[in-house]
Amino acid sequence: MSSDRLDMVVVGAGFAGLAMLHAARALGLAVRVVEAGGGVGGTWFWNRYPGARCDVESMEYSYQFSEALQQDWVWHERYAAQPEILAYAEHVADRFDLRRDIQFDTRVVSAAFDEDRSEWRVTTTAGETLRTRFMVMATGCLSVANRPDLPGLGRFRGPRYHTGDWPHEGVDFSGLRVGIIGTGSSAVQAIPVIAERADHLTVFQRTATYTVPAHNRPLPPAESAAIKADYATLRARAKRTFSGIDIVFNEAEALAVTPAARQREYEARWAQGGIGFIAAFADLLRSAEANATAAQFVRDKIGEVVRDPAVAERLAPRHVIGCKRLCLDTGYWRSFNQPNVTLVDIAENPIAGVVEGGIVAGGRTWPLDAIVLATGFDAMTGALNRIDIGGIGGLKLAQKWAAGPRTYLGLAIAGFPNLFTVTGPGSPSVLTNMLPTIEQHVEWIAACVAHVGARGARQIAAEPGAEDAWVAHNAEVASRTLRSTCASWYVGANVPGKPRVFMPYIGGFPTYVKACAAIAAEGYAGFHLS
Ligand code: FAD
Ligand code: NAP
Repeated sequence: MSSDRLDMVVVGAGFAGLAMLHAARALGLAVRVVEAGGGVGGTWFWNRYPGARCDVESMEYSYQFSEALQQDWVWHERYAAQPEILAYAEHVADRFDLRRDIQFDTRVVSAAFDEDRSEWRVTTTAGETLRTRFMVMATGCLSVANRPDLPGLGRFRGPRYHTGDWPHEGVDFSGLRVGIIGTGSSAVQAIPVIAERADHLTVFQRTATYTVPAHNRPLPPAESAAIKADYATLRARAKRTFSGIDIVFNEAEALAVTPAARQREYEARWAQGGIGFIAAFADLLRSAEANATAAQFVRDKIGEVVRDPAVAERLAPRHVIGCKRLCLDTGYWRSFNQPNVTLVDIAENPIAGVVEGGIVAGGRTWPLDAIVLATGFDAMTGALNRIDIGGIGGLKLAQKWAAGPRTYLGLAIAGFPNLFTVTGPGSPSVLTNMLPTIEQHVEWIAACVAHVGARGARQIAAEPGAEDAWVAHNAEVASRTLRSTCASWYVGANVPGKPRVFMPYIGGFPTYVKACAAIAAEGYAGFHLS
């Protein structure tokens, strides 16, 4: 066991872990970051599939804790591709000399709270036990691949890939018959790019997806310079919106305007591209009737692009638009006009299994040389539940969360003192631009840790009553929106056996930030210091 006690162990070196390390150092804390991967960047270290890029504009999908950093860094596209985002994470690590406190290629296996010493004992795959006063879980909301248990998958003789764990050297699909399972955000980005190279691409679709054009383009230097000249205004405007993204949330209701006015608004947003489409009207995620107008608009667009009416019909989603995460694409529908792309509807013809030479669905074998699983993630709780975390009285986190995650603010968990989660379940996290959301958490945690130190306390713990109230508030706001009504990963529906709880906080970024600030201002109301 390492004899020196650390002040803080941070798990994960994605954007959350890097920011936490930087902030903790500023407090003068002795910090170690433990990262399972061989480099920084988290999501952007692992998700190297063809076409991977952000869906929040690059100028916003970046840190703001350092004015010099945001002035110096140059983004080259409206939506940066994975290599550029990874290069940005690496630049941050180098610029702030972060790597010296990061232990790579090491996974945290367990963490147990020692009540007598008010410290965490953290074991890792490197065989060490670290002692630390505080633990910060920066383990990511979308960092554990969801790999469906398809019968016979192990027998497949070709290579298999998951988008969230892509080979670093890349994959050349030229001349190959490729099958891709899934049509979520990852698949929507990957399909057009794989279809360019593969001899044939077979897309196995369980649920048709809503996607909006990204209209990605180079970012001219003059445009980014104009933003940089007054970055603070853009950042402040974004923080006032529901999602923390600088998009215009129309206050008008879809059903209160004429059909022609509605169409004009949808067309304008379609032409602009981006996830702002779903903010076209205020009632789109409240009223099923309003939502149906936007859904029909997208279905009509599919019909305009996809030439084969039977394929267009199968590609047309029927669920609530925006309920599952809205996708952004570059040429997704068009791909299905290519003669080398086939769509297989596995909702109608479920996958019966995998054989040596392909996937069996709808009573036939689809011959394949390679399989891509674009089947998403065990989101929000997956990475935390995979660590054996024991709190007060030996209470296990996985046990506490057996019926779904329970947190106070998505930042702390009753029964687990001195442990914080960055963008944990119960925080706005995945419903927002993650970068400012991560920074807000990191700043809050740093201030809280400083407060504990200033008070001479050894321990801070969320009170069960405060946690219960937050969980109830989460459920109440979720019940008001259509977003909690479909089988999405927001409710854990993509992972068999996972409890159905709407996991992110859907009360809006500004409301949430205000709540966190008020709690801190009241001397950390709902927390117990000892
Ligand atoms: P991550 O980047 O997931 O990092 C967590 C790290 O923790 C990982 O490196 C992991 O290896 C490590 N880890 C986990 N468990 C352990 C353990 N037990 N021991 C050691 N290390 C561990 N969000 C947006 O706002 N805009 C976007 O455009 C956007 N695009 C995305 C595109 C893709 C393909 C995906 C998958 C997600 C996207 N997201 C986007 C969400 C994205 O996850 C966040 O924006 C952000 O990168 C999360 O950073 P993080 O540090 O919290 O988590
Ligand atoms: P996802 O949205 O969960 O999509 C997974 C896809 O796989 C869905 O189509 C799902 O079908 C299908 N699937 C899952 N299990 C299956 C099974 N057993 N059999 C058949 N099909 C199965 O995952 P993702 O596309 O990786 O995206 C996850 C999240 O990461 C996104 O929502 C987004 O937040 C983020 N992301 C963002 C971007 C971006 O544009 N910047 C890109 C990628 C990811 P069902 O719908 O029927 O479950």
